[in-house]
Amino acid sequence: MKEPIQQLIKLQEIDSRILAKRLFIDKVPGRISEQDEPLKLSRQNLEKMQQKSEALQKKKRDREKTLEDIQEKIKKMKARTPDIKTNKEYQAHLKEIESSEKEIGKIEEEVLLIMDDLDRTLKLQKTEEVVVRQELEKLEVVRKELDREVASHEKELSGLKAERLGIVNLIEPDVYTLYMRLLRAGGGIALSPAKNEVCGGCDMNMPPQLFVEVRKNEELLQCPQCQRILFYRED
Ligand SMILES: [Zn+2]
Repeated sequence: MKEPIQQLIKLQEIDSRILAKRLFIDKVPGRISEQDEPLKLSRQNLEKMQQKSEALQKKKRDREKTLEDIQEKIKKMKARTPDIKTNKEYQAHLKEIESSEKEIGKIEEEVLLIMDDLDRTLKLQKTEEVVVRQELEKLEVVRKELDREVASHEKELSGLKAERLGIVNLIEPDVYTLYMRLLRAGGGIALSPAKNEVCGGCDMNMPPQLFVEVRKNEELLQCPQCQRILFYRED
């Protein structure tokens, strides 16, 4: 195998590894936000429960305040009893007290229902708080693991870049320019192995004579279809 093609094969191997590592690193934020979904969901649930229990607590306070007001009103009414002169007035007075007492009974029942609901909501809220904590811990584990992997890929990347530079220095500038153009156009693949008169890059057949030339690995020959530089390697 002649030098230029050998160097290009090495360069392609390094570039493929560099691209794979960059792809991995680029995908990390997306992977974290995917893992973030259950946490977001449980946080939303928790927030809803917190809002609900706050609303119930406020409702309870309001109803209790109303209770106090009515009790105060009844107290005042009862204090007025000795001043009532006629029987008719007295009957009306008793009726008024009775209706206020009925209202108290109604509100007390309401308060009990609110307390029941509040109790259930607070229990659910506690459970959801545990879920949020667990999801946070899980996410932290994933994030640490990914950070570790990224750091190791970054380290390998700097080694690969140094290795790449050493090879690029050995390649003729115009050959390197062609390689880079093909690399960009070919989605990261500038070189294709040829096998049984088929280009490994685009799967198209090539003229038999071209394959004969490619097998020698002497010249830089391009696939007539995808333009990639062809090489031959014994399996
Ligand atoms: Zn091709």
